[in-house]
Amino acid sequence: MLDTTSEGALAALVADLERALVAQDSDAVAGLFLETGFWRDLAAFTWNLKTCEGRDQIAEMARAQLPRIAPKALSLDPTETVAEAGGVTEGWLVIETAAGRGQGYIRMKEGKIWTLLTTLHELKGHEEPRRFRRPMGAEHGHDPKRQTWKEKREAEAARLGHEEQPYVLVIGGGQGGIALGARLRQLSVPTIVIDKHPRPGDQWRNRYKSLCLHDPVWYDHLPYIPFPDNWPVFAPKDKVGDWLEMYTKVMELNYWSSTTAKSAKYDDAKAEWTVIVERDGQEITLRPKQLVLATGMSGKANVPKFKGQDVFKGEQQHSSQHPGPDAYRGKKVVVIGANNSAHDICAALWENGADVTMVQRSSTHIVKSDSLMEVCLGGLYSEQAVANGITHEKADMIFASVPYKIMADFHVPQYAEIKKRDADFYAALEKAGFMLDFGDDESGLFMKYLRRGSGYYIDVGACDLIIDGSIKLQSGKGISHLSETAVVLDDGTELPADLVVYATGYGSMNGWAADLISQEVADKVGKCWGLGSNTTKDPGPWEGEERNMWKPTMQQGLWFHGGNLHQSRHYSRYLSLQLKARYEGIDTPVWGLEAPHHLA
Ligand SMILES: Cc1cc2nc3c(=O)[nH]c(=O)nc-3n(C[C@H](O)[C@H](O)[C@H](O)COP(=O)(O)OP(=O)(O)OC[C@H]3O[C@@H](n4cnc5c(N)ncnc54)[C@H](O)[C@@H]3O)c2cc1C
Repeated sequence: MLDTTSEGALAALVADLERALVAQDSDAVAGLFLETGFWRDLAAFTWNLKTCEGRDQIAEMARAQLPRIAPKALSLDPTETVAEAGGVTEGWLVIETAAGRGQGYIRMKEGKIWTLLTTLHELKGHEEPRRFRRPMGAEHGHDPKRQTWKEKREAEAARLGHEEQPYVLVIGGGQGGIALGARLRQLSVPTIVIDKHPRPGDQWRNRYKSLCLHDPVWYDHLPYIPFPDNWPVFAPKDKVGDWLEMYTKVMELNYWSSTTAKSAKYDDAKAEWTVIVERDGQEITLRPKQLVLATGMSGKANVPKFKGQDVFKGEQQHSSQHPGPDAYRGKKVVVIGANNSAHDICAALWENGADVTMVQRSSTHIVKSDSLMEVCLGGLYSEQAVANGITHEKADMIFASVPYKIMADFHVPQYAEIKKRDADFYAALEKAGFMLDFGDDESGLFMKYLRRGSGYYIDVGACDLIIDGSIKLQSGKGISHLSETAVVLDDGTELPADLVVYATGYGSMNGWAADLISQEVADKVGKCWGLGSNTTKDPGPWEGEERNMWKPTMQQGLWFHGGNLHQSRHYSRYLSLQLKARYEGIDTPVWGLEAPHHLA
């Protein structure tokens, strides 16, 4: 039974917060937070994705933004219940500012705000045409010049990019570009999404044959059209490809397949990009106001350089080029790397009769898929969560409500439990010589992903093959060089090979900006991804949000979009609203734009 005094206290605190916000009283706002409280805002107050940490930063942001944002209302959502556990009372908020409406989530501790999440969900006067606002489709009455839906779509497709310029050009039509394109379509922002591949979904089709999603279906939905409830828990990659192709069509995206962006240049005076694209062999110049690089966070292959790569007589591939195992039956394969792709590729090669060796240079975080689902994801993203009324949209908000600074604290106990639960499994892996870690601070998989986007494998079976020696392992060793026929390790071990697979990960997304725009712009923007946690591969200083992702960058008119399916779904909302506001000429005063600290 809920302690009604906690609910009453939360309601009073929220009422105080509303009064202070509407009065634009920044000191009063800050005073309602714990000294060490957090205010995470997704585009509602900062026109940025920003977490203010501590009263001083909260007051500073509020001083700058409240007069510009003019909050109108903030209250507990009457359709949701307040929860209380362990001295923390939490609840859902509805928010209104001069420009928009949104949702929020609040946690109260010791009578003060511990964490506050505020998010923009729609712009006033530009609401999406959904539910009560859905379009008629049919045009009743009489019109001798009547055009069908199909004729209008075809006319639009013929016009856009030729007689009419898109306001937004999205380069990269993987699931990221597609989800963003769908949201911009609903917001009536003229947008073209381009992709090199012949068909939407080819990004997934072209990956190695055995790939299935590593995350379960409840975590993977796209905006607007969730997967049906008979969709497999872990969808095979070609099925995901087909879904994306269907989605692109029914969500009416202006999607240019077989189109490659060749170069892009920003004209400061016109506040406009000139982008040269090649579509089916024909060069076209596009002039969008906003350019989004959705070219893949796991897209820019990172291939290490070793002496002897030019003399090696066998095949060499980055994991992103690996076609799958069929051609390698009976061959000797060395896979360099020990993260997700390396494990998947090794297992599939072994299943197809190749002689496989994995080379592990540094430790890897391993978590069994079922443990991850049951211990970490299940509360928010599972069939049971859905049965408990936690839709994926709700789960996204709850997830977003935990500031990154303290997120690891939430995760450490979960991974401690997993360590205990799977102790025999981890002991067997170590016995096989595999180097394990749980992250610098034992916070596990998701923090590793957020900080560095790498360094883990979600085990769906390859670990057993390492434990029993079916996949051979060389760990704690670097590569000295390649000879004509072998990979030679720095302790002199020779690994004869017909194929070397570099499962060595991907580079920062600003590398795409260097390729397409200029090194100068790539450097001006700086590294994409990472929180600045000062843990391995995530150098400080602390930024507290993903660098440069889904928010304004130091280059006007340039945006980065990507991440896993969950992030792409959730953050495409805020990116699309930031773009829509600019399209409509709504004032978007950005607070807290971060200068770059790292070039890549
Ligand atoms: C092996 C593997 C397994 C993964 N498993 C999962 C998973 O289970 N769940 C999950 O959520 N994520 C997973 N990921 C992460 C995955 O990369 C992303 O979820 C997803 O592919 C990212 O989508 P995206 O649209 O951001 O980028 P991508 O899918 O990489 O798409 C980028 C697109 O940009 C295009 N492009 C690049 N440059 C240009 C140019 N100049 N002109 C035109 N087009 C261009 C490319 O052709 C490509 O189609 C996995 C990644 C890998 C590598």
